[in-house]
Amino acid sequence: MEKIVICTVCPIGCNITVREENDELVITGNQCKRGLTYATNEYLHPVRILTTTVKVHGGDQVLVPVRSAEPLPKELLFSAMDLIRDLTVDAPIHRGDVLINNILDTGIDIVATGEIKC
Ligand code: SF4
Repeated sequence: MEKIVICTVCPIGCNITVREENDELVITGNQCKRGLTYATNEYLHPVRILTTTVKVHGGDQVLVPVRSAEPLPKELLFSAMDLIRDLTVDAPIHRGDVLINNILDTGIDIVATGEIKC
């Protein structure tokens, strides 16, 4: 199996090829060691910061922007979105408030990134 990974560690954005050969990863196209680490993780265990919005009740806005405090496993993003879509929180909300604790037992919180007044 072969996968092309675009490295996002720096603005150069190298196209890195990762393929398995004899039970080992062969990685080419990276210009530095940071890209090697990034491509290895992206191939074996891809993660993403989840950013979205949560519905708000009783606030000066109807949605508050949120993000995962740390990157979540990519395969859990749709399940996490399902939980977040069903959530409504009460105003006021402050930046950094934890709106979902330990989502999907990952140990990662969903936190507000905006302010909502009553
Ligand atoms: S491999 Fe290195 S040089 Fe290329 S994008 Fe990644 S960090 Fe930047």
